[in-house]
Amino acid sequence: MLKEQIIIIGNGPAGCSAAVYAARAGLKPRVFAGDLPCGLLTQTSEVENFPGFTDGIDGLDLVMAIQMQAEKFGAVVDYDTVTAINFTPGKHTLTTADGREFTTPAIIIATGAVPRFTGVPGEERLRGRGVSACATCDGAFFKGVPVVVAGGGDSAMEEALFLTRFASHVHLVHRRDTFRASAIMVERARAHEKITFHLNSLITEITGNDEVDGVLITDKNTNATELIPAKGFFAALGHIPSTALFKAAGVATDDNGYIVVENNTSLTNIPGVFAAGDCMDPRYRQASVAAGNGVKAALDAEKYLADYAAKQQ
Ligand code: NDP
Repeated sequence: MLKEQIIIIGNGPAGCSAAVYAARAGLKPRVFAGDLPCGLLTQTSEVENFPGFTDGIDGLDLVMAIQMQAEKFGAVVDYDTVTAINFTPGKHTLTTADGREFTTPAIIIATGAVPRFTGVPGEERLRGRGVSACATCDGAFFKGVPVVVAGGGDSAMEEALFLTRFASHVHLVHRRDTFRASAIMVERARAHEKITFHLNSLITEITGNDEVDGVLITDKNTNATELIPAKGFFAALGHIPSTALFKAAGVATDDNGYIVVENNTSLTNIPGVFAAGDCMDPRYRQASVAAGNGVKAALDAEKYLADYAAKQQ
């Protein structure tokens, strides 16, 4: 069993920012990168709104810069995934995919969130063969062909507008006729000549043998179905927090799986376990907010460890 003072799970903006502070406090954090090293920001191209970068910065470059800053102060980034966890205050234990076991009094959960898909027939089978959740990653593959974007939030509007750069036409399918997206984004999308809105419509199937060739939708009011010929299907349906492992081990979450923290802190219901970033933030989901929450988690953990050490004496 390997001992660590503090373990951070996830190396996106939240985990890496927590690591900067924890490392600078001399705690030598071990940071597990998990299945998607550097997190979802690696799937964006340019980040234009992270404070301090006047000309924007590539998503991966941003996270790598924070990670290198943490490593400079002594953080160890471990490219393995935590597969099992047992919470026992003072000596939490973790097992990784390669079979190592660790014990630590402090854990920061910063595992982020993954895109939500519809779950309709054809979607899983055609993932990566026309089905995507990231227009900025995959949009350029759809030059001159029609695509469908599902969702009614800001992501759906943004992805639809982005895809007009490549696709011959963009069909936006939303299950209601009102939107979570901001009015300005909806107006921009509505005004675009290449975008058609299909409202009150459910995605019922993604069709195609080896690659997507259409999206079947059903009108909720009339039950009429329509097959939209399309080479791409982009799910922009929000995200699911990556918290199942921790929830099963006793961390309190809300109904949607987001880790619940004590008012304005990073403290979970388990002593010595802290949460930061998209796994605990259903509202803002911004890299800069995640980074700030990572800092809070490191400061909370630092205080917890100092109190814990004092009690041991
Ligand atoms: P949201 O949760 O805001 O929107 C998700 C959309 O997907 C909703 O319209 C929802 O429909 C729909 N949906 C969810 N599940 C299903 C399903 N199973 N079948 C069909 N439709 C479904 O997520 P976003 O990713 O759009 O945005 C998240 C946050 O990020 C927001 O705060 C947003 O403002 C922010 N953001 C900001 C941007 C910007 O400012 N440039 C860009 C992108 C995101 P319904 O409404 O009916 O529930």
